[in-house]
Amino acid sequence: MLNFVFLGPPGSGKGTQSAKLIEDFGFVHLSTGDIFRAELKSGSSLGLEAKRYLDSGMLVPDDVVVRMIEQKLDASPANAGFIFDGFPRTQVQAEALDRLLEFKGMPLQFVLLLEVPDAILRDRLAERSKTSGRSDDADSDIIEKRIRVYQNETLPLTDFYSQQGKLSRVPGVGHIDEIYARIRLALHI
Ligand code: AMP
Repeated sequence: MLNFVFLGPPGSGKGTQSAKLIEDFGFVHLSTGDIFRAELKSGSSLGLEAKRYLDSGMLVPDDVVVRMIEQKLDASPANAGFIFDGFPRTQVQAEALDRLLEFKGMPLQFVLLLEVPDAILRDRLAERSKTSGRSDDADSDIIEKRIRVYQNETLPLTDFYSQQGKLSRVPGVGHIDEIYARIRLALHI
């Protein structure tokens, strides 16, 4: 079993690369953004609670996110391992994830930071908005907000994980397959 986190700004390719890893290795994908969007679509109370944060590019409160991840972990059978995508995004979430996984006896092995310059992120998100149907990709003010929130709240986690000796920096620019090869190397798979 291999459990790892994809850290990276919006548009860095976490979802794209997760899809390739899932196809090749059968990991379970826990993408908090995908889960919130699915909850919103189904009209659940969690979706309604999360909506105003998703719409504005702000983070959903930590307690809501952590509770949701805990439930998903409990509901997922033993498997090849978990890809945490878009989670954790704050120090509180990172510490909660460590506690949850330690309790389950399946600690996090790697944290991959996909590094992409801001100008390329803006181009990719504008392109993605043509097909994603995501209102938060289509509005440049919200894109800027998400990039700022990432820099202020999430990027500091690189210190937390490099102190644990788990962080690998992966250049997220280039051909998709080339980036995928770098990721496999970092994961030793
Ligand atoms: P993403 O699909 O990862 O870009 O996430 C879309 C939106 O979902 C974010 O802008 C946040 O509003 C919310 N979200 C996703 N994951 C988290 C998280 N771990 N903590 C707080 N909010 C989150």
